[in-house]
Amino acid sequence: MKSRLRRCILLLIFPLLLAGSAIAQSDPAWTEPFPPFQIAGNLYYIGSKGLASYLITTSQGNILINSDMEANVPLLQASIEKLGFKFSDTKILLISHAHFDHDGGSAKIKQLTGAKYMVMDADVPVVESGGKADFQYGSDPTLLYPPTKVDGVLHDGDEVKLGGTVLVAHLTPGHTKGCTTWTMKVTDAGKIYNVVIVGSPNVNPGYKLINNAAYPGIAQDYERMFRVLNSLPCDIFLGAHGSYFGLEEKYPLLKKGIANPFIDPDGYKKYVAQTQQEFRTELAKQQAAAK
Ligand SMILES: [Zn+2]
Repeated sequence: MKSRLRRCILLLIFPLLLAGSAIAQSDPAWTEPFPPFQIAGNLYYIGSKGLASYLITTSQGNILINSDMEANVPLLQASIEKLGFKFSDTKILLISHAHFDHDGGSAKIKQLTGAKYMVMDADVPVVESGGKADFQYGSDPTLLYPPTKVDGVLHDGDEVKLGGTVLVAHLTPGHTKGCTTWTMKVTDAGKIYNVVIVGSPNVNPGYKLINNAAYPGIAQDYERMFRVLNSLPCDIFLGAHGSYFGLEEKYPLLKKGIANPFIDPDGYKKYVAQTQQEFRTELAKQQAAAK
C-alpha cells in the first residue's frame, strides 16, 4: 500500500521533474510576503521572501527595481504602501535581468503606475517578446510572461537619474545577455555607502557554456561579468534574490538595532569569489565532457 502510494506520488511529480522550470515557478518562497523595510537612506526592501525588489525614493518620485512575477505585483504595492509611500509615485521601473521571476510583473506595473521601463540593450528583445527571445528558455511556455514595451534602452555604464539619486547600470552578462548589476550611493546617518545590487552570477541548470549556438560568447560574458563584480566598490551588498546576500539571516539583526547587517563588504567579496569558482568548475566540467 505504502509503495503504491509512493509510486503514485512519483508519477505525479515526474513530469514536474522533467520540466525543472515548473518546479522553479512554484517555489512558494517567491510569493511569500516578507516585511518591507528601510535598508539605508532612501533605499528600501519591498520584495517577497524569495524574490528581491527595491524601492528608491526621491523628491521627484520613486524608482522600482524588479517587478518579479505578475502574481507578485499586489505584494509589491502592499509593501510600498506599508512603508508609507504611494505605488502611483513609481516613475521608473528597472530590472536585474530578463527572466520571468524578475520582469514578469513589468507590464502590470507599467499599466498601474505609468512608470517608464528602462532595460539594458541586450535584454530588450527578451522583455519585448515576453521571454520568447531568451537564449535558454524561449520555447518553454511555462516561463513566458506578458510582452512589455521598453521605454528607454540602457547601455553599459548608463546613469538613471531621478530627484538627485543616480543609479548606474553595469552590464554583467552571462546569466542573460543583458543582465544588469545596479550601483548607487546612499547617505545614511551622515555617511555615504556604495550599494551593489547583483544581477545574477549563476549558471543555471542546462546552460551550455561551450558550443552554444544561441549564445556563442556566453563563457566570455561570464568572465567579463566577474571582472565587473570584482571591480565594484561595495559596502551594502544586495542582489536579485535574497539568498544571494542572506536576506533572511540579516533582516532580524537589523531589527535589533546593532550595526547595519546589510553593510557587508566581506560578504560581497566572498559571494563573488564563490560564484566565480562555481562558474569555473562548471566550465571545466563542460570542457572535459566535450573532449
Ligand atoms: Zn534568472
